[in-house]
Amino acid sequence: MNKFEQLGLNPAILKAIEDMGFESPSEVQEKAIPILLEKDTDMVALAQTGTGKTAAFGFPLIQKINANSKQTQGLILSPTRELCLQITNELKNYAKHTPGLNTVAIYGGASITDQSRQIQRGAQIIVATPGRMQDMINRKLVDISKIEFCILDEADEMLNMGFFEDITAILSHTPKEKNTWLFSATMPKEVSTIAKKFMRTPVEITVGTKNQGTSNVSHEYYLVNSRDRYAALKRLADANPDIFSVVFCRTKRDTQKVAEQLIEDGYNAAALHGDLSQNQRDLVMKSFRSRQIQMLVATDVAARGIDVDDITHVINYQLPDEPEIYTHRSGRTGRAGKSGVSMVIVSKSELRKIKSIERIIKQPFEQKEIPDGMEICKV
Ligand code: ADP
Ligand code: MG
Repeated sequence: MNKFEQLGLNPAILKAIEDMGFESPSEVQEKAIPILLEKDTDMVALAQTGTGKTAAFGFPLIQKINANSKQTQGLILSPTRELCLQITNELKNYAKHTPGLNTVAIYGGASITDQSRQIQRGAQIIVATPGRMQDMINRKLVDISKIEFCILDEADEMLNMGFFEDITAILSHTPKEKNTWLFSATMPKEVSTIAKKFMRTPVEITVGTKNQGTSNVSHEYYLVNSRDRYAALKRLADANPDIFSVVFCRTKRDTQKVAEQLIEDGYNAAALHGDLSQNQRDLVMKSFRSRQIQMLVATDVAARGIDVDDITHVINYQLPDEPEIYTHRSGRTGRAGKSGVSMVIVSKSELRKIKSIERIIKQPFEQKEIPDGMEICKV
C-alpha cells in the first residue's frame, strides 16, 4: 500500500495519481487530505508555493462531489486567469477516471457566452476568478446557491490583488451550510479577516515555517550599472544555454521592451503581461510550457501562481518594490523538491533592498560576477 492509499482516496483517484507519476503525498497533502475526506469541516491550510496545495484540496473535492448529479457543487476561487486554467487542467487530470465529472473555468478576457454555455451543460465544479464570477452572478448566468464546497485558493494573492469585496459578494450567494477550504502561502491580516468572517472553527494546518518556502532555491545577485542591465541579462542567458526561466520586470512597458529586445537578439523569449489579449496569453503560456520559449519575460501580476515545472532560473531584471513579492517570484523555481536559482540584477542604489529581502527569506544572497562581464561589473 503506498502512502496515497493510506489517505483514504478512492481507486479512480489513485489510478489518476499513478498516471501523473506522483509517488508519495507532499506534507500538506498528507495532512489535509484525510481530514477533508473524513470530516465535514472548514479548513485553513498554510503552505508555501510549490508544495502541492492544488491536489491537497483537489483530490478530496473530486472524491466528495457527486458525479451523478449535474448540480454545481464546488466553487474554487483563484486569483488569475492563468491559475484558473491551470487548476482546471489539474482537476481534469485528477478526475480522468471519474466518469461524468465536469470542471469549468470561468475567467475574464474570454467569451462569457461560451463559459455560460459550458456551465449550462452541467459543471459540478467551477474554477473562477473573482471578477468574472461576480459578473456572471450579477447576470444570473450561474447558480451557486447549492454548492457544498467553496475553496479559496492562493487566498493571500487574491486579497493582495484587491478581490476582498468580490469574494465577500460571491460568498454571500452561497449557502450557509457548506465547507470552506482556504489555501494560502502566507497569512496576512486580510486572510485571517476572511477566515474569521466566513468560516466556522476551521481546522488549521501549517506546513513548514512561514517564509521559508524557497529553501530549494539559491539566491544570487549581480551588481551592475543600471544602464548595463540588459547586457547583464544576455550574458546570464548565454552562460546558461539550457535556461528555462521567468524574467521579471516591473512594468508592462519594460516587460514588452525586454522581450522584444531578446527576440531581436535571437533568444527564445516572449512577453507576458496584462495588455495582451487572453488568446495571446494562452498562446504564450502554451509555448512556454512546451519549452518553445526559454525566457518568459513577465510582470508580477501576469506571472502570479503560474506553475510550470522545471523552471531553472528566476531572473529579477528589476527588483519589486515589496520584498514579499520577491518570495512569490523566486517561488516559481525550486518546485516539487527540485532546486532552482533566483538571480537579481541589481544596481548599487538598490543594494539595501537585497538586505531587506534576506531578512524575509531568511537566507543569504551570494554576490556573483556576470560571466565574461568584467567591464559591466565595474560599478
Ligand atoms: P502550490 O499550489 O502549493 O503552489 P501546486 O499544487 O501548484 O503547488 O504543485 C506544484 C507542483 O508539484 C505541480 O507541478 C504538481 O504537479 C507537483 N506535485 C504536487 N503534488 C505532488 C506529489 N505528491 N508528488 C509529485 N509532484 C507533485
Ligand atoms: Mg497553488
